[in-house]
Amino acid sequence: MAIDPVLLTQELVRCPSVTPVDAGAQAVMTAALEQMNFTVHRLIFGTETPNPVHNFFAHLSRQGSTVLNSAAHSSPLADSSINGEEGAAKIGPRLCFMGHTDVVPTGRLSDWTTPPFDAAIEGDRLIGRGSADMKGANAAFVAAVSRFLLRYPDWNGTISLAITGDEEGVAAHGTVKIVEWMRDHDHIPDAALVGEPSNPQFMGQIVRVGRRGSWCGKLIVEGKQGHSAYPELADNPAHKIVTLLHQLLQQKFDNGTEFFKPSDVVVTSIDIGNEATNVIPARAQALINIRFNDHWTGPSLEQHVRSIFDETKIPYELYGWCNAESFMTNDAMWRKLVADAVQEVSQIRPVFDTGGGTSDARFIAPYCPVVEYGLINATIHQINECVFLNDLETLTQTYFVILKKFFSVGD
Ligand SMILES: [Zn+2]
Repeated sequence: MAIDPVLLTQELVRCPSVTPVDAGAQAVMTAALEQMNFTVHRLIFGTETPNPVHNFFAHLSRQGSTVLNSAAHSSPLADSSINGEEGAAKIGPRLCFMGHTDVVPTGRLSDWTTPPFDAAIEGDRLIGRGSADMKGANAAFVAAVSRFLLRYPDWNGTISLAITGDEEGVAAHGTVKIVEWMRDHDHIPDAALVGEPSNPQFMGQIVRVGRRGSWCGKLIVEGKQGHSAYPELADNPAHKIVTLLHQLLQQKFDNGTEFFKPSDVVVTSIDIGNEATNVIPARAQALINIRFNDHWTGPSLEQHVRSIFDETKIPYELYGWCNAESFMTNDAMWRKLVADAVQEVSQIRPVFDTGGGTSDARFIAPYCPVVEYGLINATIHQINECVFLNDLETLTQTYFVILKKFFSVGD
């Protein structure tokens, strides 16, 4: 029996897995996968912290009949977990689906038309926290795999899933660590598919092929406190930080690149904390966030920011950190395969895009080509987050066609 993506989405949404709590969400997925003979590695990271994170890596390998007939392989077809332990020889193409089971907080419960973890179906949609971001996509992929295994029992290769419970939070003990584990246990795939909701209004619109990076900086200017009637006796950091930030915002960092829009510089906070109009403060601080394209790396961007500040000759301290490097999937074959599958199901040619914030796709990007395709993101993180039942079916079919094309089976 193939798995129903709507029922599985409901089962997942009913686990209140507000990050980093798991609330049984991953067990719902692993139970379905183990029924299909997947080998599941439960990976709990951050055990030294108050909030350990549940993750899992599941994989299923199968040899087609031709490989089975060769002398080198004698395992019966029924033993599908031939890749069950580390270091197994590669026997066909390897595809990994990546996602998360954690969700953002609900907001005020009374604002929801139905309770956020009831997964109620109202008319043509399923309402619930995480339904679109991204339990629906998790369910669609598992459902697609079940259809694929029933329809094409002789496929050849490896299907894996890397699922984290720490995407919406700090993301320190999630995909970044799963990918390290995959690398150390020879489970890096040939291609990765991230099921984050990629479509703004309707299915078939956008396949994400990269993301901008994110750099953050804390700028501090020290001065000398004094009476505002005697500014010559003080040294005003408020004026100086305004000059520094003005210089930064004046600059055009780049004109965008082939697949990316220009980098954006955003001052997110200016903090002095001075309530007195007759006191010149001693210290001023600002926070900066730069969303950067593939013209830059975190270090080259920080170097550039410092050179802009240095030109002003104003003494400053800058503490910079790179949350995420940008990445771009240039692998034309993998991009085309996914776009072809989307078009086959949705009758629209999707656009390749690099918009949105950062995503966990960046962690696998250094190892293999990765694209992102999922549900509609119009209601994610909102009150009454929802998914259309039709879209769950469309996504399941799309993932099914991706599997079919990736493993070169069927017509
Ligand atoms: Zn998400």
